[in-house]
Amino acid sequence: MAKRKKKKKNFKYILFLIFIISATFIYFNFKKNSFLNEINYEYSGTINYYDIYGIHMNFNGEFELDDNLSNPKLVLANSSYEKEIKWNLKNKDNNYSFKTSDYINDGINLENLKLGTYYLLIKAKSNDSDIYFPLINTTEYKNLEYYTLTKNNSNKKIDITWDKYKDNEILTFNIKNTTLPDDVYDITIDPGHDGNDAGVIVCSDGSAPDISSKCMTGDTYKESDINFYQAEELKKELEKLGYKVKLTRNSTTDTIPTYGKMGSGTTANTTKSKFNIAIHHNSSNVPGGMSSIYGLEVYVAGNSKFDLAKSFVKNITEKANVSVSTKKEFKVQDGIYQRFSDDDITPYYYMIREVGGIATHAYVDGSNTKYDENPYYISNNTAEGYLLELGYIDNVKELKNILNNKDKYAKGIALGLDKYLKNTSD
Ligand SMILES: [Zn+2]
Repeated sequence: MAKRKKKKKNFKYILFLIFIISATFIYFNFKKNSFLNEINYEYSGTINYYDIYGIHMNFNGEFELDDNLSNPKLVLANSSYEKEIKWNLKNKDNNYSFKTSDYINDGINLENLKLGTYYLLIKAKSNDSDIYFPLINTTEYKNLEYYTLTKNNSNKKIDITWDKYKDNEILTFNIKNTTLPDDVYDITIDPGHDGNDAGVIVCSDGSAPDISSKCMTGDTYKESDINFYQAEELKKELEKLGYKVKLTRNSTTDTIPTYGKMGSGTTANTTKSKFNIAIHHNSSNVPGGMSSIYGLEVYVAGNSKFDLAKSFVKNITEKANVSVSTKKEFKVQDGIYQRFSDDDITPYYYMIREVGGIATHAYVDGSNTKYDENPYYISNNTAEGYLLELGYIDNVKELKNILNNKDKYAKGIALGLDKYLKNTSD
């Protein structure tokens, strides 16, 4: 008897649970739909450009306001939450155009969005109330997927989708907790050059290598090897901070293509990394290892905010006891460099240009048969790229510091990134 009673009790309990779950589901669906119902679909604006570059998303668009509407704002909103998005707004006779930022590595910081489902809308004041209206996609681009950087072993997945509600297009952000899939990473490091391409070759005593690239007296050092060992050290430091890190090659002898799926210029995007850090060491091509130039150079893309570049410079110079480069060409600030093609905007280095897709004017489309196609040259969801020339290995003093203090350079780079990420809000 006692047993049967227990079963009955369990059954009631399960019924009750089912009721609660269904009621919650119906309630939230109702709430969601009531918000979607409140949107004024008679009005709409357009999105004419959008991209994700690194951790930031940017939108360009336009809309018109009737005379009875004023004070427009760009918002990410649902029935219980609203976040105003910063924008640069221009108005000419009630025809508005907007950009969420003039910089490619600025705009909506995807790392800081709250869990939930939101809609990107224009909010405007009508006589006595606010109206919300949607934005329509005029670009060839579709839905995007973003994984936030690993924090405390967990991540968020953001699905940015052009959904339909009663035949109206509505840009939806859906943010859920997750952990990273095996093939998704936070950061990619490219140790410059590879087993087939040594980069600079120097001798430890400052003598010049002979025609077979061997040193007669001092030890022979290849840039490709130094880059690799430095990249390994950096990977360790970033992993200590909790990030998931991918190297583009796994040994000093590995050879890798530039493009293809897992090339030096494509691995960051194939693995959905937010940052791509290319590690290089410089030379001024003065024979005999007596380079008078020395120091750190951080190469950045055009239309960039320098916050992260500055953080790299500050932390690397402090931790590794090095100075900013004495080189003047391409310099824009102490330690920060920009090198462009003839058009003065397209980055010269493919590690920055091709990795950034449309944000950085990538152009390797396969039409030049010398190279394979970069599958991401037209992508609007790409990694933010930095090329670090950590020092001049044909300067004997600097070579010693580089060989003996890889751990300190690694600490400087890793802290530079980590501190930047902790300080960025929007
Ligand atoms: Zn190099």
